[in-house]
Amino acid sequence: MCAKIILTAPATEMSDYNGSPFYAFTASFSKPSFIPRFLLKKFLYKPVPSEGLHVSRAPYGLRKIEAKLLEAGFSEDEVLTIHPDNLEKAIGDDTKIVCISSMDPLGLAFVSITYSTILGLGDSMTFYEFKRLSQILLKYRPRIKVIVGGAGSWQLIRKNVMEKYGVDHVVIGEGESIIGDLIHRILNGENVEKIVRGSLSSIDEIPIIRRPAIHGIVEITRGCGRGCQFCSPTLQVRRSMPLDKIRKEVEVNVKAGENFILIATDDIFLYGCNNSRFIPNEKAILKMLDTIIGVEGVKYVQPAHSSMPPVLLNKNLVKKMAEILLNYSYYSINGKPIVTTEIGIETGSSNLIKKYMIGKPIPFKPEEWSKIVIESITIMNENEWYPLGTLIVGLPGETEEDVIQTLELLDELSRLKLFLVPLFFVPEETCYLKNQRETVFENLSELQREVFVKAWKYNIKIWGESFYKNRFKNPISRKILLKYIYPLIFYLLYGLKYRWMDEWRRNTAKEIYDVIRKIPC
Ligand code: SF4
Repeated sequence: MCAKIILTAPATEMSDYNGSPFYAFTASFSKPSFIPRFLLKKFLYKPVPSEGLHVSRAPYGLRKIEAKLLEAGFSEDEVLTIHPDNLEKAIGDDTKIVCISSMDPLGLAFVSITYSTILGLGDSMTFYEFKRLSQILLKYRPRIKVIVGGAGSWQLIRKNVMEKYGVDHVVIGEGESIIGDLIHRILNGENVEKIVRGSLSSIDEIPIIRRPAIHGIVEITRGCGRGCQFCSPTLQVRRSMPLDKIRKEVEVNVKAGENFILIATDDIFLYGCNNSRFIPNEKAILKMLDTIIGVEGVKYVQPAHSSMPPVLLNKNLVKKMAEILLNYSYYSINGKPIVTTEIGIETGSSNLIKKYMIGKPIPFKPEEWSKIVIESITIMNENEWYPLGTLIVGLPGETEEDVIQTLELLDELSRLKLFLVPLFFVPEETCYLKNQRETVFENLSELQREVFVKAWKYNIKIWGESFYKNRFKNPISRKILLKYIYPLIFYLLYGLKYRWMDEWRRNTAKEIYDVIRKIPC
């Protein structure tokens, strides 16, 4: 007998990227046509192992849906979570529904649209893998119904391509409170709407995962409440998961042999925070961290996101968190453990902060934004936190003066240590700015392009050497890579592609390569 309901995700989301969540971003880059898929699967998005057809690890969102279906009365035999390459083996006469979770099915998420357009080497790997998955499923239409959910499901509606990719239903928003009913209605042959809106789940409705998640993900908060208009969590109510739930999910991961716990949150400082001024709840945060590290077998703990104002509000908390997290650090610089987390810098313009992100600096004022950024990162660095900071280029109505302020902020940041990721503005379906036009490379001004060049030159200068030394321990392979393989790739790409493209790409490719060339072996 085969499963009635199959859960899966594109191959780019069914990998742990050799254990590092940081590298998962690279799947958003273009898939050059000359690199065959088997090489990408071997070196970049290596499939998570499977036991029989069951994947040993799955994306966290898919694990939540799996748990919810089991809770809704489906048996273990009826629900199967698999790698997409096993779809044809898994689908049988009894299979009725395939649920796909995807963060970026069409390559329209912030990172993919930005870097696949800039690199100009074709669609993102995320899109490539979604297309591949949908081509397999198209063969089984209309017998099998396909549902797509996850953070990127909005893309199918935006581009009006549900039919093209054989998708019967798209779920927008949180799926836990509606998935059981949705599946029952489809199985009963009811006429179900194409676009299904999820609703906010209460803490009780959010299930504990039954099987391990990729990167040992454990959600500690959901929603944010700062209200940035370009962001999806904007519309979500802030919730903190009870410690018991957190502990149980850590145990599920650890029991399966996972020693890495990725703390899923829009802001770790929101844990247990019940006030409108976003004053961090020190006691709750430290207790939550203690709960996680208290589970035997946990070796690494990585907080996903943090905001900056709480760092200024409670410097001592940053120090105390570092004292815990440095003992569970996965990343290091020159052998010294560090704390990393993602922060949203977004812009140096207080006008744009006022217009689109008025809640971001709370309890400080929008005019103080640049100061908040500089001072909080200074405190973070003093406590061995080295964050990854995103910047958004091309917010609606961004003026040259706004961009100059961002460039000035970057100049000031150059004396600090962080990793910068500039991104295009993308109007996601679930955000307030959804009707605004997205940023496209061709419309960027010289100054806006300068943000990208400045940020990446800074990244390579600051992180290049330690990146290679950490990643490639053997000095000979490092030398071969930097002295021979990279120049070869660069000249091939340059000769075949960039040389024939616009002047900016031509010059930027050379400029960036010049910085890479100077990285000491
Ligand atoms: S602070 Fe971050 S998570 Fe919260 S709304 Fe703004 S961008 Fe979104």
